[in-house]
Amino acid sequence: MPNAHTISGLATRHLLSIADLHRPDIDSLLALGETYLDLSVQKDARNDILAGKTLINLFFENSTRTEKSFELAARRLGADVINMSMSTSSAAKGETLLDTATTLNAMNPDLLVIRHGASGAPALLSQKVSCAVINAGDGAHEHPTQALLDALTLRTRLGAIDGLRIAICGDILHSRVARSNVQLLNILGAEVRLIGPPTLIPQDADQWGVEVFHDMKSGLKACDVVMMLRLQLERMGGAFVPSKREYFHFYGLDQKKLDYAAPGALVMHPGPMNRGVEISSDIADDPDISLITAQVEAGVAMRMAILHALSLGGVNG
Ligand code: ASP
Repeated sequence: MPNAHTISGLATRHLLSIADLHRPDIDSLLALGETYLDLSVQKDARNDILAGKTLINLFFENSTRTEKSFELAARRLGADVINMSMSTSSAAKGETLLDTATTLNAMNPDLLVIRHGASGAPALLSQKVSCAVINAGDGAHEHPTQALLDALTLRTRLGAIDGLRIAICGDILHSRVARSNVQLLNILGAEVRLIGPPTLIPQDADQWGVEVFHDMKSGLKACDVVMMLRLQLERMGGAFVPSKREYFHFYGLDQKKLDYAAPGALVMHPGPMNRGVEISSDIADDPDISLITAQVEAGVAMRMAILHALSLGGVNG
């Protein structure tokens, strides 16, 4: 079990955005994530740090990886877990988010994990409940725990993130993963590039501290890591790309395009993947190149670290 004396509470009570975290918080979260990852490899990660505490998973959007990984992480720390499937709950009957918050608050949870289609929903909820709130993805806004687990994956595989050249490619416009990763990777000293068609790059991206490219050949040049994103068709109100086939031709990652990157470049994808749309199967499934399974593994360990650290209480309330 990690030594409780070496872990201090975070400066924040909630995890709504990467901006909630100061560098020392990030470093200690990643160090704790590494400890839990090592312990889970030894099948020894279980402890009772959250015994007697309750975590509610409140997912208004579907999720496979994230919901299950929070559940597993919480159970491994001894917490009770309630999964609320919001498509079949009173929210589907018209209850507002704030009514839901009042109801949940009356159940006295200690941790509330929320995914919602609207940007800012977790922040709103955090003002109405008395427990710690964790953003598990809000619209196209942020997905901070994904960025942290990606950083843990990179640290585990490559040691340091400082100085890496990392390309985030594809549907940046609709991606909360991209927004959280850009912030975190910049803090950790990586050189971040965004690559995508002009229709899928946000207009203000040049103010994000990144370099923007519209073609894979120049964008991937000398990149150490290539992070592919899903084409988020469910968030597109109109036609952002001519066709999936054409999109793959220009922006889908295959061996030919990966050869533009640095020799030995590694590939990431937050999942779920659209094979043959943003990534080819031979790249996604190649264990020497792809970190995709490692990301899922790191997800449970990183979320254990986040739950553990948040349970210690925010230093600044
Ligand atoms: N699973 C990630 C998210 O929830 C990425 C995606 O859905 O494409 O944002």
